[in-house]
Amino acid sequence: MAGETPKKRVAIFGSTGSIGTQALEVVRANPGLFEIEILTAHTNDELLITQALEFKPNAVVVVNEKKYDNVKAALASTAIKVFCGEKALEEVADFDTYDVMIAAIVGFAGLKPTLKAVSKGKIIALANKETLVVAGDIVMQMALENRAPIIPVDSEHSAIFQCLVGEGRNPIERIILTASGGPFLGKKPNFLVNVKRDHALQHPNWSMGAKITIDSATLMNKGLEMIEAKWLFNLQPSQIEVVIHPQSIIHSMVQFEDGSIKAQMGLPDMKLPIQYALGFPNRIKNDFPRLNFRKYPALNFEEPDTKTFRNLGLAIEALQKGGNTACVLNAANEIAVWAFLKNRIGFLDITAVVEKTMAEIPFVAKPTLQEYFESDGEARNFAASLMKL
Ligand code: NAD
Ligand code: MG
Repeated sequence: MAGETPKKRVAIFGSTGSIGTQALEVVRANPGLFEIEILTAHTNDELLITQALEFKPNAVVVVNEKKYDNVKAALASTAIKVFCGEKALEEVADFDTYDVMIAAIVGFAGLKPTLKAVSKGKIIALANKETLVVAGDIVMQMALENRAPIIPVDSEHSAIFQCLVGEGRNPIERIILTASGGPFLGKKPNFLVNVKRDHALQHPNWSMGAKITIDSATLMNKGLEMIEAKWLFNLQPSQIEVVIHPQSIIHSMVQFEDGSIKAQMGLPDMKLPIQYALGFPNRIKNDFPRLNFRKYPALNFEEPDTKTFRNLGLAIEALQKGGNTACVLNAANEIAVWAFLKNRIGFLDITAVVEKTMAEIPFVAKPTLQEYFESDGEARNFAASLMKL
């Protein structure tokens, strides 16, 4: 019962983002279950300060060093320790004083602090899918060796995780990842070529950070999620399917060896998978809006159009090829999405940059962590040179 068990001490890496702020809402609503130990942000010092004053963590990190003085001054009358710089993320991840890390930094930048937490055997509530896309084999092996449970926050993976509870050793035959299709479902290249940043940032069902919103519009997000699923659930590429489901009510499904399929459903709200990961194995009562089936007379399913949304095809290629391919794909995509968000390249150029970078960077079959970092760097440099950044 709440109150009898010690509170879980939570470290939110990326507390100022979409996942981070929603995680804080969950913590705020459950003061008897959770307390905040660490908060980190990249640049948004004002929000970090507000969060720190409310949740009174032991430590905060602001990665952007120019923001340090402001954060330090604002928290001077408190006991909160203030750190800055990229290295500090790993230093605070090394603390003994937290139980669960919410890995909610976006992109490759989340990998090092998450690895540190895994090496300490912490519970990882993993939103940062790029961690597994880049170095899934190493992360999962390290998690096994250090008994660090990795509980997915990504809604599809949380759905699969929830479907697997109680299944013991029953093997998975296949998983079916659902995809909303994003804002450009049904569109063709002659439309996509003219798509602008602001249009691509309007997702029909989910409100998320900029990078994942663009990834959802290009379907790269679903490709990254296939790779994430492979590592999380130890699957072969042939066991992972994607189906477009525009209503985002079924969050994903698992088919077992008897042909039975389990689905996890609900209204699209990231607070639910965040809360599930934080509370696992317990479900926490809440007052989120409930799904009313009468308001959804039809749930639709269709094949993804990988001819138009070629990023998904490229990610499937990376999933099948293995080695450093997904790391290269991810790095090129991060740079290309960044350039698109700065209006430096067009929507379809994102795919061209990823494809050319994948063709250029030498294949490494079984990379070490160091080699993953090198592949990431090489891919970023090459992608940037393509776009003359
Ligand atoms: P966001 O852009 O809203 O927030 C990112 C957070 O990371 C911010 O707190 C920011 O300060 C921090 N950050 C950014 N760059 C950093 C860097 N270089 N070093 C350290 N910190 C940095 O992103 P988000 O939408 O919250 O997504 C976070 C992660 O969760 C992503 O990997 C995304 O794919 C995943 N995810 C998000 C959602 C969602 O609904 N938003 C759903 C599923 C998975
Ligand atoms: Mg998802």
